[in-house]
Amino acid sequence: MDCLFCKIINREIPADIVYEDDDVLAFNDINPQAPTHQLVIPKRHISTLNDIAEQDLALVGRLQYTAATLARQAGFADEGYRVVMNCNERGGQTVYHIHMHLMGGRNFTWPAG
Ligand code: 5GP
Repeated sequence: MDCLFCKIINREIPADIVYEDDDVLAFNDINPQAPTHQLVIPKRHISTLNDIAEQDLALVGRLQYTAATLARQAGFADEGYRVVMNCNERGGQTVYHIHMHLMGGRNFTWPAG
């Protein structure tokens, strides 16, 4: 499968990995939009949020739990941070392997652009 994030999981493309377990990988975004900008992804390929099935609910919960754990480790859990999942073209998704953006270390505004 020609998926950029699957290649990072398989170590075919290098990445600055910050967390890994059997189901989840997290690494620094190559084009950070905040002082800390990490991507939390499932190791199993799921293309978009629309492709999440009921059997994936625990896995998606693990993405959120991992993001919160990384936020605590980075030291900005209490001051606050932003977690984003973009879906399809109008949502701004460019890599079709679901990923949670974890961004912290600056103020965020709402609504998002
Ligand atoms: P999306 O736009 O799909 O929500 O987010 C994709 C993210 O992947 C972007 O923030 C982009 O900077 C990041 N990205 C794209 N290619 C690479 C890469 O080769 N390595 C890393 N670490 N991040 C990437």
